[in-house]
Amino acid sequence: MEEHGGRRWPLVVLASSPFHGHMTPTLQLAKALHAHGFSIAIAHSNLNPPNPSNHPSFIFLPLSDNLSTIDDSGSFRTVAVDLNLAAIVFRSSSAAYFPAYLVRQQLHQEGRFLEQDYVMQEMVPNHHPLRYKDLPFSKSPVEDWQQLVAIISQSIRPSAVIWNTIKVLEHEALTQIHKHYQVPVFAVGPLHKIAPTNPPTSFLEEDTSCIAWLDKQAPKSVIYISFGSLMTLDKKVLTEMACGIAKSNQRFIWVVRPGSVCDSEWTEFLPEGFIEETRERGLTVKWAPQKEVLAHFAVGGFWSHCGWNSTLESISDGIPMICQPFNIDQMVNARYVSYVWKIGLELEGLESGEMESMIRRVIVDEEGEEMRVRAIGMKEMVKEAVQNGGCSYDSLEELVGFISS
Ligand code: UDP
Repeated sequence: MEEHGGRRWPLVVLASSPFHGHMTPTLQLAKALHAHGFSIAIAHSNLNPPNPSNHPSFIFLPLSDNLSTIDDSGSFRTVAVDLNLAAIVFRSSSAAYFPAYLVRQQLHQEGRFLEQDYVMQEMVPNHHPLRYKDLPFSKSPVEDWQQLVAIISQSIRPSAVIWNTIKVLEHEALTQIHKHYQVPVFAVGPLHKIAPTNPPTSFLEEDTSCIAWLDKQAPKSVIYISFGSLMTLDKKVLTEMACGIAKSNQRFIWVVRPGSVCDSEWTEFLPEGFIEETRERGLTVKWAPQKEVLAHFAVGGFWSHCGWNSTLESISDGIPMICQPFNIDQMVNARYVSYVWKIGLELEGLESGEMESMIRRVIVDEEGEEMRVRAIGMKEMVKEAVQNGGCSYDSLEELVGFISS
């Protein structure tokens, strides 16, 4: 326990995987709990460590092993069990991912879902709105971590679970989660709107020239393109993207992370003439201040891999999306964005003609405007959820009460 303004508050230790998309919401949750008076310690791996100078009031606990694989990470599992601490699981994916993950596991176990089924368009029986192709797959380090969380959840039997989502948005999936865990479920998202804005949580350097450039563009005229912090893409797909962007004749900001393109350090993959041809109407950057970009009046669409943080950020700012999911929970999120919430279009093929048409449909066509109207409705829903008396606000208050008790 620590002193806080004359009161004694418990220390909350948050342990996160090293991925940007996990660490960012963990730090946001930490900031929200800190604003409610808790002392905070962040246990982190040495891979992608957070910057302690951004959070002078937190304690940082580097874990001695490198935690780069699921096998190295026993410490997370055992600390809470060994010390007999109350443990709460925090998930930074969509709630809808959880039942989809369970369905996939079950189908696998029953031998009813084989590798080739991952492209099937048919609906999974009794699991509306999911098609087989929406089910989570891939053997990536992130999925190892997802599995690790599942293992931890079972071995420590959490006393509660926290989800970075909004009850009114994912009510059904949250009910399934509650049935599964049989413990209180707190939906406190979107955390980037619940937590105090400062200090910043990004640990990559943001190219803020985007904002000055956006200031000079017409309202809703720019498509923002980013595939998050982890995806690596094949040159062929990126070349198609470049052609689609060029042919669309629309304004754009394109985030290309150095190292995210196979066999290319940065933008060497771009077709000859692309930069000159698009100089007047486009910007290519290494890492953008994404939340500020999405909040800017000039942005009219977001072409995204549908990572959950990006999806929540897009919803929170009422921006329609072009969905290009690759793995893990991204297909589930894309399915909800395009088919259930109808605030985005899903790319079916990876060729420039379709990409060009998608950009125009979102930025120029009436269809884009209709999606924008629905997306703005969702933005209002988010605003209400995080206000005093809203469902996420109340859920955070309940979580604070739960931890304090
Ligand atoms: N992001 C950013 N600048 C960029 C690209 C991404 O700040 O140029 C942030 C984005 O705002 C989001 C996170 O990185 O919070 C990406 O998380 P997401 O869950 O969408 O995808 P992941 O990186 O986990 O695949």
